[in-house]
Amino acid sequence: MEKNNDLQLADLKLQLEKLEYEKSLTDEIFDRITESIVALDENWCYTYVNKQAGEIFQRKPQELIGKHIWTEFPEGIDQPFYKAYYKAFTTQEYICLEEYYKPYDKWFSNHIYPSPNGLSIYFSDITIRKKADLELKKNELFNRGVLNSVDSHIVVIENCGTIVAVNELWNKFIIDNGETTLIHSNVNSNYITATQKKADSGNTKAAEALEVIQEVIDGKKSISIYEYPCNNKTINRWFMMRVTRFEKEQPMVVIVHSEITNLKKSENQLKLKNNELLKINHELDSFVYNTSHDLRSPLKSILGLSEIIKDEMLPDDLEQRSRIDMIKESVIKLDDFIEDVLLYTKNSKLELSFEEIFYEQIIQEIKNSLNFMVGAQTIKLIFDIEDTIKFISDKNRLTVILKNMITNAIKYQKADNNDSFVKVTIKNSKDDSIIIVEDNGIGIVQDRQNQIFNMFYRATHLSTGSGLGLYIVKEMIDKLEGTIKVDSEVSKGAKFTVTIPNNRYI
Ligand code: ADP
Repeated sequence: MEKNNDLQLADLKLQLEKLEYEKSLTDEIFDRITESIVALDENWCYTYVNKQAGEIFQRKPQELIGKHIWTEFPEGIDQPFYKAYYKAFTTQEYICLEEYYKPYDKWFSNHIYPSPNGLSIYFSDITIRKKADLELKKNELFNRGVLNSVDSHIVVIENCGTIVAVNELWNKFIIDNGETTLIHSNVNSNYITATQKKADSGNTKAAEALEVIQEVIDGKKSISIYEYPCNNKTINRWFMMRVTRFEKEQPMVVIVHSEITNLKKSENQLKLKNNELLKINHELDSFVYNTSHDLRSPLKSILGLSEIIKDEMLPDDLEQRSRIDMIKESVIKLDDFIEDVLLYTKNSKLELSFEEIFYEQIIQEIKNSLNFMVGAQTIKLIFDIEDTIKFISDKNRLTVILKNMITNAIKYQKADNNDSFVKVTIKNSKDDSIIIVEDNGIGIVQDRQNQIFNMFYRATHLSTGSGLGLYIVKEMIDKLEGTIKVDSEVSKGAKFTVTIPNNRYI
Protein backbone atom coordinates (compact mmCIF):
# COMPACT_ATOMS: atom_id res chain seq x y z
CA MET A 1 0.00 0.00 0.00
CA GLU A 2 2.79 2.35 0.95
CA LYS A 3 4.65 1.40 -2.17
CA ASN A 4 1.52 2.20 -4.18
CA ASN A 5 1.33 5.65 -2.63
CA ASP A 6 4.97 6.29 -3.41
CA LEU A 7 4.36 5.39 -7.01
CA GLN A 8 1.33 7.70 -7.24
CA LEU A 9 3.37 10.50 -5.67
CA ALA A 10 6.17 10.00 -8.18
CA ASP A 11 3.67 9.99 -11.01
CA LEU A 12 2.05 13.21 -9.75
CA LYS A 13 5.50 14.82 -9.49
CA LEU A 14 6.25 13.83 -13.04
CA GLN A 15 2.95 15.23 -14.27
CA LEU A 16 3.60 18.46 -12.35
CA GLU A 17 7.04 18.80 -13.88
CA LYS A 18 5.57 18.16 -17.30
CA LEU A 19 2.93 20.82 -16.73
CA GLU A 20 5.51 23.32 -15.52
CA TYR A 21 7.67 22.58 -18.49
CA GLU A 22 4.71 23.05 -20.84
CA LYS A 23 3.79 26.31 -19.09
CA SER A 24 7.34 27.68 -19.44
CA LEU A 25 7.23 26.67 -23.07
CA THR A 26 3.91 28.52 -23.57
CA ASP A 27 5.26 31.59 -21.74
CA GLU A 28 8.30 31.60 -23.95
CA ILE A 29 6.15 31.26 -27.06
CA PHE A 30 3.91 34.14 -25.89
CA ASP A 31 6.94 36.26 -25.14
CA ARG A 32 8.38 35.60 -28.56
CA ILE A 33 5.22 36.80 -30.25
CA THR A 34 5.85 40.41 -31.27
CA GLU A 35 2.24 41.36 -30.61
CA SER A 36 1.32 42.49 -27.11
CA ILE A 37 -1.10 40.24 -25.29
CA VAL A 38 -3.12 40.70 -22.14
CA ALA A 39 -5.89 38.64 -20.61
CA LEU A 40 -8.52 39.97 -18.20
CA ASP A 41 -10.93 38.04 -16.01
CA GLU A 42 -14.65 38.81 -15.69
CA ASN A 43 -13.80 41.34 -12.93
CA TRP A 44 -11.47 43.28 -15.28
CA CYS A 45 -8.35 42.08 -13.48
CA TYR A 46 -5.23 41.04 -15.37
CA THR A 47 -4.62 37.31 -15.55
CA TYR A 48 -1.86 37.54 -18.15
CA VAL A 49 0.42 40.26 -19.51
CA ASN A 50 3.22 39.43 -21.94
CA LYS A 51 6.61 41.10 -22.12
CA GLN A 52 5.71 43.32 -25.11
CA ALA A 53 2.52 44.57 -23.38
CA GLY A 54 4.63 45.38 -20.29
CA GLU A 55 6.98 47.41 -22.47
CA ILE A 56 4.11 49.46 -23.91
CA PHE A 57 2.60 50.05 -20.42
CA GLN A 58 6.11 50.60 -19.04
CA ARG A 59 5.24 48.22 -16.18
CA LYS A 60 6.56 44.83 -15.12
CA PRO A 61 4.04 42.18 -16.34
CA GLN A 62 3.96 40.22 -13.06
CA GLU A 63 3.13 43.41 -11.11
CA LEU A 64 -0.06 43.81 -13.08
CA ILE A 65 -1.38 40.28 -12.54
CA GLY A 66 -4.51 40.36 -10.35
CA LYS A 67 -4.76 44.17 -10.63
CA HIS A 68 -7.85 45.94 -11.98
CA ILE A 69 -7.29 47.41 -15.42
CA TRP A 70 -9.03 50.73 -14.81
CA THR A 71 -7.51 51.21 -11.40
CA GLU A 72 -4.07 50.77 -12.96
CA PHE A 73 -4.87 52.77 -16.07
CA PRO A 74 -7.66 55.22 -15.19
CA GLU A 75 -6.66 57.46 -18.14
CA GLY A 76 -8.08 54.77 -20.43
CA ILE A 77 -11.61 55.15 -19.11
CA ASP A 78 -14.05 56.30 -21.80
CA GLN A 79 -11.44 56.01 -24.54
CA PRO A 80 -12.61 54.05 -27.65
CA PHE A 81 -10.78 50.89 -26.50
CA TYR A 82 -12.56 51.02 -23.10
CA LYS A 83 -15.91 51.07 -24.88
CA ALA A 84 -14.88 48.26 -27.23
CA TYR A 85 -13.79 46.00 -24.32
CA TYR A 86 -17.18 46.43 -22.59
CA LYS A 87 -19.04 45.88 -25.83
CA ALA A 88 -17.08 42.69 -26.64
CA PHE A 89 -17.59 41.31 -23.16
CA THR A 90 -21.34 42.17 -23.12
CA THR A 91 -22.09 40.88 -26.60
CA GLN A 92 -19.48 38.10 -26.43
CA GLU A 93 -18.48 39.01 -29.97
CA TYR A 94 -14.98 39.44 -31.35
CA ILE A 95 -14.07 43.07 -32.11
CA CYS A 96 -11.19 44.34 -34.18
CA LEU A 97 -10.42 48.02 -33.75
CA GLU A 98 -7.77 50.42 -35.04
CA GLU A 99 -7.87 53.64 -33.05
CA TYR A 100 -5.86 56.55 -31.78
CA TYR A 101 -5.09 56.31 -28.04
CA LYS A 102 -4.80 59.86 -26.78
CA PRO A 103 -3.05 59.22 -23.43
CA TYR A 104 -0.07 57.64 -25.26
CA ASP A 105 -0.42 59.78 -28.43
CA LYS A 106 -0.24 56.57 -30.41
CA TRP A 107 -2.31 54.44 -32.73
CA PHE A 108 -3.12 50.82 -31.75
CA SER A 109 -4.78 47.89 -33.43
CA ASN A 110 -6.76 45.67 -31.02
CA HIS A 111 -8.11 42.15 -31.54
CA ILE A 112 -10.52 41.58 -28.68
CA TYR A 113 -11.55 37.95 -28.00
CA PRO A 114 -14.30 37.64 -25.40
CA SER A 115 -15.15 34.58 -23.29
CA PRO A 116 -17.52 34.25 -20.34
CA ASN A 117 -14.39 34.36 -18.12
CA GLY A 118 -13.06 37.61 -19.48
CA LEU A 119 -11.16 38.98 -22.48
CA SER A 120 -7.99 38.16 -24.36
CA ILE A 121 -6.62 41.21 -26.11
CA TYR A 122 -3.91 41.13 -28.79
CA PHE A 123 -2.72 44.60 -29.61
CA SER A 124 0.10 46.34 -31.42
CA ASP A 125 1.46 49.85 -31.95
CA ILE A 126 0.58 50.90 -35.51
CA THR A 127 1.49 54.59 -35.19
CA ILE A 128 4.16 54.52 -37.92
CA ARG A 129 1.89 52.80 -40.45
CA LYS A 130 -1.06 54.99 -39.52
CA LYS A 131 0.97 58.21 -39.89
CA ALA A 132 2.29 57.03 -43.27
CA ASP A 133 -1.30 56.20 -44.32
CA LEU A 134 -2.49 59.62 -43.23
CA GLU A 135 0.38 61.28 -45.08
CA LEU A 136 -0.46 59.26 -48.17
CA LYS A 137 -4.13 60.20 -47.89
CA LYS A 138 -3.18 63.84 -47.46
CA ASN A 139 -0.97 63.61 -50.56
CA GLU A 140 -3.72 61.89 -52.49
CA LEU A 141 -6.21 64.55 -51.44
CA PHE A 142 -3.73 67.24 -52.40
CA ASN A 143 -3.05 65.68 -55.80
CA ARG A 144 -6.73 65.20 -56.47
CA GLY A 145 -7.43 68.76 -55.34
CA VAL A 146 -4.77 70.07 -57.70
CA LEU A 147 -5.99 67.90 -60.57
CA ASN A 148 -9.57 69.05 -60.12
CA SER A 149 -8.76 72.70 -59.62
CA VAL A 150 -6.98 72.97 -62.97
CA ASP A 151 -9.08 74.36 -65.77
CA SER A 152 -7.96 71.64 -68.20
CA HIS A 153 -8.74 68.02 -68.89
CA ILE A 154 -6.02 65.89 -67.41
CA VAL A 155 -5.24 62.23 -67.87
CA VAL A 156 -2.16 60.46 -66.53
CA ILE A 157 -1.08 57.27 -68.26
CA GLU A 158 1.57 54.65 -67.83
CA ASN A 159 3.94 53.91 -70.70
CA CYS A 160 1.70 51.10 -71.90
CA GLY A 161 -1.26 53.49 -72.12
CA THR A 162 -3.11 52.41 -68.96
CA ILE A 163 -4.87 55.37 -67.38
CA VAL A 164 -3.79 55.88 -63.75
CA ALA A 165 -5.56 59.14 -62.98
CA VAL A 166 -8.04 61.54 -64.53
CA ASN A 167 -9.59 64.74 -63.23
CA GLU A 168 -13.28 65.68 -63.04
CA LEU A 169 -13.11 67.94 -66.09
CA TRP A 170 -11.76 65.04 -68.14
CA ASN A 171 -14.88 62.99 -67.43
CA LYS A 172 -17.09 65.98 -68.25
CA PHE A 173 -15.22 66.48 -71.52
CA ILE A 174 -15.77 62.85 -72.54
CA ILE A 175 -19.51 63.06 -71.85
CA ASP A 176 -19.75 66.49 -73.59
CA ASN A 177 -18.26 64.90 -76.66
CA GLY A 178 -21.10 62.46 -77.00
CA GLU A 179 -19.70 59.39 -75.18
CA THR A 180 -22.40 57.70 -73.13
CA THR A 181 -19.98 55.86 -70.87
CA LEU A 182 -16.63 56.58 -69.28
CA ILE A 183 -15.65 52.95 -69.72
CA HIS A 184 -12.99 53.68 -72.37
CA SER A 185 -11.64 56.76 -70.72
CA ASN A 186 -11.54 56.05 -67.02
CA VAL A 187 -8.80 54.77 -64.71
CA ASN A 188 -7.52 51.32 -65.76
CA SER A 189 -8.76 51.58 -69.35
CA ASN A 190 -6.16 52.06 -72.07
CA TYR A 191 -5.84 55.54 -73.54
CA ILE A 192 -3.57 54.48 -76.39
CA THR A 193 -5.86 51.63 -77.46
CA ALA A 194 -8.91 53.91 -77.39
CA THR A 195 -7.13 56.63 -79.43
CA GLN A 196 -5.73 54.02 -81.82
CA LYS A 197 -9.28 52.77 -82.45
CA LYS A 198 -10.38 56.29 -83.39
CA ALA A 199 -7.33 56.64 -85.65
CA ASP A 200 -8.10 53.30 -87.31
CA SER A 201 -11.64 54.42 -88.01
CA GLY A 202 -10.24 57.33 -90.08
CA ASN A 203 -9.92 60.08 -87.46
CA THR A 204 -6.75 61.81 -88.67
CA LYS A 205 -6.55 64.11 -85.64
CA ALA A 206 -6.51 61.06 -83.36
CA ALA A 207 -3.71 59.56 -85.46
CA GLU A 208 -1.67 62.79 -85.23
CA ALA A 209 -2.31 63.08 -81.48
CA LEU A 210 -1.17 59.50 -81.03
CA GLU A 211 2.10 60.25 -82.81
CA VAL A 212 2.71 63.19 -80.48
CA ILE A 213 2.00 61.05 -77.39
CA GLN A 214 4.16 58.21 -78.67
CA GLU A 215 7.19 60.53 -79.13
CA VAL A 216 7.01 61.41 -75.45
CA ILE A 217 6.41 57.81 -74.34
CA ASP A 218 9.44 56.73 -76.40
CA GLY A 219 11.52 59.41 -74.69
CA LYS A 220 12.29 61.22 -77.97
CA LYS A 221 10.89 64.38 -76.38
CA SER A 222 10.12 65.27 -72.78
CA ILE A 223 7.31 67.66 -73.76
CA SER A 224 5.22 67.74 -76.89
CA ILE A 225 2.34 69.97 -77.94
CA TYR A 226 -0.47 69.43 -80.41
CA GLU A 227 -3.32 71.77 -81.29
CA TYR A 228 -6.55 70.31 -82.66
CA PRO A 229 -10.12 71.35 -83.45
CA CYS A 230 -12.83 69.57 -81.51
CA ASN A 231 -16.34 69.96 -82.86
CA ASN A 232 -19.55 68.46 -81.56
CA LYS A 233 -23.16 69.05 -82.62
CA THR A 234 -23.50 72.35 -80.80
CA ILE A 235 -20.07 73.87 -80.48
CA ASN A 236 -16.79 74.19 -82.37
CA ARG A 237 -13.76 74.41 -80.16
CA TRP A 238 -9.98 74.28 -80.30
CA PHE A 239 -7.81 72.42 -77.82
CA MET A 240 -4.15 72.23 -77.08
CA MET A 241 -2.79 68.88 -75.95
CA ARG A 242 0.39 69.10 -73.91
CA VAL A 243 2.13 65.81 -73.27
CA THR A 244 4.76 65.71 -70.53
CA ARG A 245 6.82 62.78 -69.35
CA PHE A 246 7.79 62.42 -65.73
CA GLU A 247 9.99 59.76 -64.26
CA LYS A 248 8.81 57.73 -61.32
CA GLU A 249 9.75 54.11 -60.61
CA GLN A 250 7.90 53.58 -63.82
CA PRO A 251 7.84 56.47 -66.33
CA MET A 252 4.44 58.11 -66.70
CA VAL A 253 2.98 60.61 -69.12
CA VAL A 254 0.64 63.47 -68.22
CA ILE A 255 -1.69 64.58 -70.99
CA VAL A 256 -3.32 67.96 -70.46
CA HIS A 257 -5.98 69.16 -72.88
CA SER A 258 -6.69 72.90 -72.50
CA GLU A 259 -9.28 74.83 -74.43
CA ILE A 260 -7.71 77.50 -76.63
CA THR A 261 -10.74 78.51 -78.72
CA ASN A 262 -10.49 82.17 -77.72
CA LEU A 263 -6.75 82.16 -78.23
CA LYS A 264 -7.21 80.66 -81.69
CA LYS A 265 -9.84 83.24 -82.56
CA SER A 266 -7.54 86.09 -81.48
CA GLU A 267 -4.64 84.43 -83.28
CA ASN A 268 -6.65 84.23 -86.51
CA GLN A 269 -7.82 87.80 -86.13
CA LEU A 270 -4.25 88.85 -85.49
CA LYS A 271 -3.07 86.95 -88.55
CA LEU A 272 -5.73 88.62 -90.70
CA LYS A 273 -4.87 92.04 -89.28
CA ASN A 274 -1.18 91.36 -89.76
CA ASN A 275 -1.67 90.35 -93.38
CA GLU A 276 -3.80 93.43 -93.92
CA LEU A 277 -1.13 95.61 -92.32
CA LEU A 278 1.63 93.97 -94.33
CA LYS A 279 -0.37 94.66 -97.49
CA ILE A 280 -1.01 98.28 -96.53
CA ASN A 281 2.61 98.71 -95.52
CA HIS A 282 3.80 97.24 -98.77
CA GLU A 283 1.43 99.45 -100.76
CA LEU A 284 2.52 102.48 -98.76
CA ASP A 285 6.19 101.67 -99.34
CA SER A 286 5.61 101.23 -103.04
CA PHE A 287 3.58 104.42 -103.16
CA VAL A 288 6.28 106.41 -101.36
CA TYR A 289 9.02 104.82 -103.44
CA ASN A 290 7.32 105.38 -106.79
CA THR A 291 6.15 108.90 -105.96
CA SER A 292 9.61 109.89 -104.69
CA HIS A 293 11.16 108.44 -107.80
CA ASP A 294 8.72 110.19 -110.09
CA LEU A 295 9.20 113.48 -108.27
CA ARG A 296 12.94 113.47 -108.87
CA SER A 297 12.91 113.76 -112.67
CA PRO A 298 10.80 116.98 -112.83
CA LEU A 299 13.08 118.37 -110.11
CA LYS A 300 16.12 117.52 -112.22
CA SER A 301 14.46 119.33 -115.18
CA ILE A 302 13.80 122.41 -113.02
CA LEU A 303 17.45 122.41 -111.96
CA GLY A 304 18.64 122.03 -115.56
CA LEU A 305 16.30 124.76 -116.81
CA SER A 306 17.32 127.12 -113.99
CA GLU A 307 20.91 126.59 -115.03
CA ILE A 308 20.09 127.45 -118.69
CA ILE A 309 18.08 130.54 -117.65
CA LYS A 310 20.94 131.70 -115.45
CA ASP A 311 23.46 131.20 -118.29
CA GLU A 312 21.32 133.30 -120.62
CA MET A 313 20.95 136.12 -118.14
CA LEU A 314 22.95 139.29 -118.31
CA PRO A 315 25.88 139.04 -115.88
CA ASP A 316 24.91 142.29 -114.17
CA ASP A 317 21.28 141.22 -113.55
CA LEU A 318 22.27 140.27 -110.03
CA GLU A 319 18.77 140.34 -108.53
CA GLN A 320 17.37 137.83 -111.04
CA ARG A 321 20.46 135.64 -110.79
CA SER A 322 20.09 135.45 -107.02
CA ARG A 323 16.41 134.50 -107.43
CA ILE A 324 17.39 131.68 -109.76
CA ASP A 325 19.98 130.55 -107.16
CA MET A 326 17.23 130.49 -104.52
CA ILE A 327 15.07 128.33 -106.80
CA LYS A 328 18.03 125.98 -107.31
CA GLU A 329 18.71 125.81 -103.58
CA SER A 330 15.08 124.93 -102.81
CA VAL A 331 15.02 122.31 -105.52
CA ILE A 332 18.26 120.73 -104.19
CA LYS A 333 16.80 120.69 -100.67
CA LEU A 334 13.64 119.02 -101.92
CA ASP A 335 15.71 116.51 -103.88
CA ASP A 336 17.81 115.72 -100.78
CA PHE A 337 14.62 115.12 -98.84
CA ILE A 338 13.27 112.82 -101.54
CA GLU A 339 16.58 110.98 -101.58
CA ASP A 340 16.30 110.43 -97.82
CA VAL A 341 12.77 109.08 -98.19
CA LEU A 342 13.97 106.74 -100.91
CA LEU A 343 16.87 105.58 -98.75
CA TYR A 344 14.50 104.88 -95.87
CA THR A 345 12.12 102.80 -97.98
CA LYS A 346 15.03 100.98 -99.60
CA ASN A 347 16.43 100.08 -96.17
CA SER A 348 13.15 98.61 -95.00
CA LYS A 349 12.44 96.85 -98.30
CA LEU A 350 15.83 95.50 -99.32
CA GLU A 351 17.42 92.48 -97.71
CA LEU A 352 20.98 92.76 -96.42
CA SER A 353 23.56 92.04 -99.07
CA PHE A 354 27.00 91.10 -97.80
CA GLU A 355 30.32 91.54 -99.57
CA GLU A 356 33.92 92.37 -98.67
CA ILE A 357 34.20 96.02 -97.74
CA PHE A 358 36.98 98.19 -99.19
CA TYR A 359 36.72 101.41 -97.24
CA GLU A 360 39.09 103.36 -99.51
CA GLN A 361 36.67 102.81 -102.36
CA ILE A 362 33.66 103.94 -100.31
CA ILE A 363 35.50 107.03 -99.08
CA GLN A 364 36.43 107.93 -102.65
CA GLU A 365 32.79 107.65 -103.76
CA ILE A 366 31.72 109.88 -100.87
CA LYS A 367 34.45 112.42 -101.59
CA ASN A 368 33.31 112.63 -105.23
CA SER A 369 29.72 113.26 -104.21
CA LEU A 370 30.82 116.09 -101.90
CA ASN A 371 32.38 118.14 -104.71
CA PHE A 372 29.41 120.46 -105.07
CA MET A 373 28.33 120.47 -101.43
CA VAL A 374 28.22 123.85 -99.74
CA GLY A 375 30.85 123.93 -96.97
CA ALA A 376 32.86 120.97 -98.26
CA GLN A 377 35.59 123.34 -99.40
CA THR A 378 36.08 124.97 -96.00
CA ILE A 379 36.66 121.79 -93.97
CA LYS A 380 39.61 119.46 -93.79
CA LEU A 381 38.80 115.79 -94.33
CA ILE A 382 41.11 113.41 -92.44
CA PHE A 383 40.95 109.65 -92.86
CA ASP A 384 42.72 107.03 -90.78
CA ILE A 385 41.76 103.60 -92.04
CA GLU A 386 43.07 100.31 -90.73
CA ASP A 387 41.27 97.65 -92.73
CA THR A 388 43.80 94.90 -93.27
CA ILE A 389 41.49 92.45 -91.54
CA LYS A 390 38.83 91.29 -93.95
CA PHE A 391 35.49 92.88 -93.16
CA ILE A 392 32.22 91.63 -94.63
CA SER A 393 29.13 93.79 -94.53
CA ASP A 394 26.49 95.57 -96.60
CA LYS A 395 28.32 98.11 -98.77
CA ASN A 396 25.31 100.24 -99.75
CA ARG A 397 24.15 100.71 -96.19
CA LEU A 398 27.69 101.40 -94.94
CA THR A 399 28.11 104.06 -97.62
CA VAL A 400 24.87 105.80 -96.58
CA ILE A 401 25.88 105.68 -92.89
CA LEU A 402 29.36 107.13 -93.50
CA LYS A 403 28.18 109.74 -95.99
CA ASN A 404 25.51 110.94 -93.63
CA MET A 405 27.86 111.40 -90.70
CA ILE A 406 30.48 113.14 -92.88
CA THR A 407 27.96 115.52 -94.49
CA ASN A 408 26.59 116.36 -91.05
CA ALA A 409 30.11 117.28 -89.89
CA ILE A 410 30.37 119.55 -92.96
CA LYS A 411 26.90 121.06 -92.41
CA TYR A 412 27.47 121.72 -88.72
CA GLN A 413 31.01 123.15 -88.87
CA LYS A 414 31.55 126.45 -87.06
CA ALA A 415 31.09 129.42 -89.40
CA ASP A 416 33.98 131.44 -87.98
CA ASN A 417 36.52 128.61 -87.75
CA ASN A 418 39.37 128.32 -90.21
CA ASP A 419 40.56 124.91 -89.03
CA SER A 420 37.32 122.98 -89.24
CA PHE A 421 37.97 119.31 -89.68
CA VAL A 422 36.20 116.01 -89.80
CA LYS A 423 38.24 112.98 -88.90
CA VAL A 424 37.13 109.48 -89.87
CA THR A 425 38.89 106.63 -88.07
CA ILE A 426 38.11 103.07 -89.08
CA LYS A 427 39.48 99.93 -87.51
CA ASN A 428 38.56 96.40 -88.50
CA SER A 429 38.81 93.37 -86.28
CA LYS A 430 37.67 89.80 -86.78
CA ASP A 431 34.52 90.61 -84.78
CA ASP A 432 33.59 94.06 -86.03
CA SER A 433 34.49 97.32 -87.65
CA ILE A 434 34.59 100.43 -85.51
CA ILE A 435 33.95 103.71 -87.29
CA ILE A 436 34.53 107.00 -85.49
CA VAL A 437 33.51 110.27 -87.14
CA GLU A 438 34.51 113.30 -85.13
CA ASP A 439 34.52 116.98 -85.87
CA ASN A 440 35.21 120.31 -84.16
CA GLY A 441 31.90 121.84 -85.20
CA ILE A 442 29.04 123.46 -83.29
CA GLY A 443 28.32 120.35 -81.19
CA ILE A 444 24.96 119.22 -79.80
CA VAL A 445 23.24 120.39 -76.62
CA GLN A 446 23.51 117.63 -73.99
CA ASP A 447 19.78 117.04 -73.41
CA ARG A 448 19.07 116.79 -77.16
CA GLN A 449 21.72 114.19 -77.88
CA ASN A 450 19.46 111.21 -77.24
CA GLN A 451 16.81 112.57 -79.62
CA ILE A 452 18.92 113.19 -82.71
CA PHE A 453 18.19 109.66 -83.99
CA ASN A 454 14.43 110.30 -83.94
CA MET A 455 12.48 110.78 -87.16
CA PHE A 456 12.37 114.42 -88.38
CA TYR A 457 14.28 115.64 -85.31
CA ARG A 458 16.51 118.67 -85.67
CA ALA A 459 18.64 119.71 -82.72
CA THR A 460 19.44 123.20 -83.98
CA HIS A 461 17.66 126.00 -85.86
CA LEU A 462 20.74 126.07 -88.10
CA SER A 463 19.63 122.84 -89.69
CA THR A 464 18.27 123.20 -93.19
CA GLY A 465 17.78 119.46 -93.55
CA SER A 466 14.75 117.23 -93.05
CA GLY A 467 15.85 115.69 -89.74
CA LEU A 468 15.75 112.27 -91.40
CA GLY A 469 19.48 111.62 -91.87
CA LEU A 470 20.47 110.20 -88.48
CA TYR A 471 17.13 108.38 -88.21
CA ILE A 472 18.00 106.50 -91.41
CA VAL A 473 21.55 105.93 -90.13
CA LYS A 474 20.17 104.37 -86.92
CA GLU A 475 17.65 102.23 -88.85
CA MET A 476 20.42 100.89 -91.07
CA ILE A 477 22.75 100.22 -88.13
CA ASP A 478 19.93 98.35 -86.40
CA LYS A 479 19.43 96.26 -89.50
CA LEU A 480 23.15 95.45 -89.48
CA GLU A 481 22.84 94.62 -85.76
CA GLY A 482 25.38 97.30 -84.90
CA THR A 483 25.40 100.19 -82.43
CA ILE A 484 25.88 103.96 -82.56
CA LYS A 485 26.63 106.43 -79.82
CA VAL A 486 27.31 110.13 -79.73
CA ASP A 487 29.55 112.26 -77.52
CA SER A 488 29.40 115.98 -77.93
CA GLU A 489 30.01 119.29 -76.28
CA VAL A 490 28.48 122.50 -77.53
CA SER A 491 30.92 124.49 -79.71
CA LYS A 492 33.65 121.88 -79.21
CA GLY A 493 32.43 119.29 -81.66
CA ALA A 494 30.70 115.93 -81.99
CA LYS A 495 31.97 112.37 -82.04
CA PHE A 496 29.93 109.47 -83.43
CA THR A 497 31.11 105.93 -82.70
CA VAL A 498 29.61 103.16 -84.77
CA THR A 499 30.26 99.44 -84.32
CA ILE A 500 29.22 97.07 -87.09
CA PRO A 501 29.61 93.30 -86.67
CA ASN A 502 31.86 91.48 -89.08
CA ASN A 503 29.76 88.97 -90.99
CA ARG A 504 32.76 86.90 -92.05
CA TYR A 505 31.15 83.58 -91.31
CA ILE A 506 27.82 84.14 -93.01
P1 ADP B 1 19.35 117.09 -90.35
O1 ADP B 1 18.64 116.95 -91.63
O2 ADP B 1 18.76 118.16 -89.48
O3 ADP B 1 20.83 117.25 -90.51
P2 ADP B 1 19.97 114.61 -89.03
O4 ADP B 1 19.03 113.54 -88.69
O5 ADP B 1 21.10 114.29 -89.92
O6 ADP B 1 19.06 115.77 -89.59
O7 ADP B 1 20.55 115.19 -87.68
C1 ADP B 1 19.69 115.51 -86.64
C2 ADP B 1 20.22 116.67 -85.84
O8 ADP B 1 21.42 116.32 -85.17
C3 ADP B 1 20.61 117.84 -86.71
O9 ADP B 1 19.51 118.67 -86.94
C4 ADP B 1 21.70 118.50 -85.89
O10 ADP B 1 21.12 119.41 -84.97
C5 ADP B 1 22.32 117.40 -85.09
N1 ADP B 1 23.62 116.95 -85.66
C6 ADP B 1 23.84 115.86 -86.41
N2 ADP B 1 25.14 115.73 -86.69
C7 ADP B 1 25.78 116.76 -86.08
C8 ADP B 1 27.14 117.19 -86.00
N3 ADP B 1 28.14 116.52 -86.58
N4 ADP B 1 27.41 118.29 -85.29
C9 ADP B 1 26.43 118.98 -84.67
N5 ADP B 1 25.13 118.62 -84.72
C10 ADP B 1 24.80 117.53 -85.43
